[in-house]
Amino acid sequence: MGTEPAIRCGPLPKPDMIPANPSPTQPVRWQALWRDAIREPQALLDQLGLGHLSHRVSAEATAQFALRVPQGFVARMRHGDPDDPLLRQVLPLVEETFSVPGFALDAVGDLPSSAANGVLHKYRGRALLVATGSCAVHCRYCFRRHFPYAEQTAAANDWESALAALTADTSIHEVLLSGGDPLSLSTEKLAQLTDRLRGVPHIRRLRIHTRLPIVLPERVDDELLTWLTRLPWPCAMVVHANHANELDENVFSAFARLHRSGVNLLNQSVLLKGVNDSVPALADLSERLFSGGVLPYYLHQLDRVSGAAHFEVSDTQALALHEQLCAQLPGYLVPRLVREVAGAAAKLPLASVTPATHHVSDSRYSM
Ligand SMILES: *Cc1c(COP(=O)(O)O)cnc(C)c1O
Ligand code: SF4
Repeated sequence: MGTEPAIRCGPLPKPDMIPANPSPTQPVRWQALWRDAIREPQALLDQLGLGHLSHRVSAEATAQFALRVPQGFVARMRHGDPDDPLLRQVLPLVEETFSVPGFALDAVGDLPSSAANGVLHKYRGRALLVATGSCAVHCRYCFRRHFPYAEQTAAANDWESALAALTADTSIHEVLLSGGDPLSLSTEKLAQLTDRLRGVPHIRRLRIHTRLPIVLPERVDDELLTWLTRLPWPCAMVVHANHANELDENVFSAFARLHRSGVNLLNQSVLLKGVNDSVPALADLSERLFSGGVLPYYLHQLDRVSGAAHFEVSDTQALALHEQLCAQLPGYLVPRLVREVAGAAAKLPLASVTPATHHVSDSRYSM
């Protein structure tokens, strides 16, 4: 199976918990929806009326990083549109197999800074816990597509050494649950983890980086909300949507439930060619997020990970888009345009890392 991270999404429901014929009033458990995700490129294309596009799909890319997309996310794709911005994020195209100079396996320097226990402590005051390698959706541009999850997730170590590291370092005030997608763990497992952190006096905030409320909003169930409500710390949740079409009524309903449980909602996006590389796409996304009570946080310039070159937007174009977005929206709806630079003290504003030859008024950028 190549380097596909093992799918460890927490215990699946016991067979006796899934009635053979669920009654229509019974909510479908998120684990069942997770399990029913589409994994065959041809099945996805057929379902969208795009069966004739199979030559655009790479078996090699699929073997390296499997296709995975929940049915509910596919339902938001436009039928018959090969350029659908949601489809583009998940379809393993032949372009992924092209070798492009500058696109490497560990684009953000995670490997040198990672402790074997799944804790990444790159920035002052906050440490990121790679809680699991699993995700409900496989995003083709993801910088973690080559990450050696099996060895480096905290769960692989039974949490002990990760918890020990977080407990010992009194400079850590914020714990970020990340992955993979931390909400792919069972709520029970999440509660075990936060119960262990409860007594640690230097921890003041919890943050959760997750795409699940977007791609599988059913994950935001009563059990999860109960866990969130009982957390002893203020909690920020950074969701990940790249295009307004990702935000349907089910997602808004998940946002509303999260709000009611006291969670502060932010969004991060990746600037992706063919997905959101236009001012209208970015403005629509911000406006739609806000109508669901979510503030835009970061717009990431793509990490130059091998296989993702066809998503790259040039820095010049990125800065121009961002400047136009600033001219169009209130400041609080403009995400910070950043790039991750190995060894830097924070995510850096793109304007500060781009060579001085850049002029934002110069619109003659190449696509
Ligand atoms: C992105 C990231 C963070 C969070 O950075 P913020 O600027 O606080 O959002 C923390 N730790 C690591 C290792 C990260 O990659
Ligand atoms: S972007 Fe997030 S949800 Fe998508 S594959 Fe990467 S870690 Fe998983």
